[in-house]
Amino acid sequence: MFSSRFMPCGACGESLDRTALRVHECAPERLADYEMFGLRHEVAQLEAEVRRYLATAAGRFETWLAARHVRRGA
Ligand SMILES: [Zn+2]
Repeated sequence: MFSSRFMPCGACGESLDRTALRVHECAPERLADYEMFGLRHEVAQLEAEVRRYLATAAGRFETWLAARHVRRGA
């Protein structure tokens, strides 16, 4: 059975040498990228839901209210 010397880190996805003695520490920016990558379906779904909401009467009202708020410069 083939077993790779390298294993992706479960938290950040970086390829890690399993024989290395050094303890791996996730780079924060890499961690964030990897999390966003893992969440891309949820993010896409959320965007679709927001768009669907904005198409409703309540959503259109809130859009109008927000625009009015911005124009007032408050
Ligand atoms: Zn990591």
